Amino acid sequence: MVLDDLGTSLRGTLEDLRGKSRLTEDDVEAVVKEIQRSLLQADVDVSLVMELSDSIKTRALEEEPPGGTTARDHVLRIVYEELVALVGDSTELPLEEQTIMLAGLQGSGKTTTAAKMAWWFSKKGLRPAVIQTDTFRPGAYDQAKQMCERAEVEFYGDPDAEDPVEIARRGMEETADADVHIVDTAGRHALEDELIEEIEEIGDVVEPDRSLLVLDAAIGQGAKEQARRFEESIGIQGVTITKLDGTAKGGGALTAVNETDSTIAFLGTGEEVEDIERFEPNGFISRLLG
Ligand code: GDP
Repeated sequence: MVLDDLGTSLRGTLEDLRGKSRLTEDDVEAVVKEIQRSLLQADVDVSLVMELSDSIKTRALEEEPPGGTTARDHVLRIVYEELVALVGDSTELPLEEQTIMLAGLQGSGKTTTAAKMAWWFSKKGLRPAVIQTDTFRPGAYDQAKQMCERAEVEFYGDPDAEDPVEIARRGMEETADADVHIVDTAGRHALEDELIEEIEEIGDVVEPDRSLLVLDAAIGQGAKEQARRFEESIGIQGVTITKLDGTAKGGGALTAVNETDSTIAFLGTGEEVEDIERFEPNGFISRLLG
């Protein structure tokens, strides 16, 4: 990590340490305060921020800086390592045949993400297909179909069918030639039992290799309960954070990562099919602190 990746005030605080060979408790406290401020502003859960603060304080004061390391470089390295531990690595996504199921509440960005992910896999040389099982939200079928046309990827859906499980079953059969099956599911306005039952049944039919939870960057503490319910029912192997092109920094999604013991797979950065990035810790950390 380079200093330029950090927020202005944190960068300033670290610059104040320039020339020092030993850190005092006050020095460490000042750095930790700046980090806390940025992370809380970015919606990172208070208890996660406190855990991170404690680790940074303990390590910065107890670990001996390697020979020739300045106090500033020592604390910067520890801050960076602890932030990487907080945000995690990116979800492993082998470029091979697989089925990915998307879970999340209505409006989180699942349908958009399904088409974007298909576009991403197609650029990697695979043959993806999107299966649209959302019979709940009016317009989901047309939206998914149009986006898949723009992404130039295979699409299966049935605007006249009412049973999402049956659509999933037929969709897997009809797109059997595809390498990567991306199964979009219906959300609800809230976490209802019906939603959980439906996604469990779809999961039984499509047997996903991984299920990703899609969360809006603006999600705050609601992330915890969603993550817990989906983790208990279908198991969550990765998180996708959408709408990072807005003002929200997506720190709330880290609660879901923590709750599901998973990692972040993708970031959504706009409404078009190509507005997707593979998660990468450095960029995300800069965003959180920026
Ligand atoms: P779903 O109900 O979970 O399938 O959500 P949608 O995919 O329909 O997304 C809800 C709204 O958010 C739509 O208007 C999308 O265009 C928009 N959206 C989704 N992802 C992004 C994103 O990364 N950035 C922006 N700006 N809008 C997004």
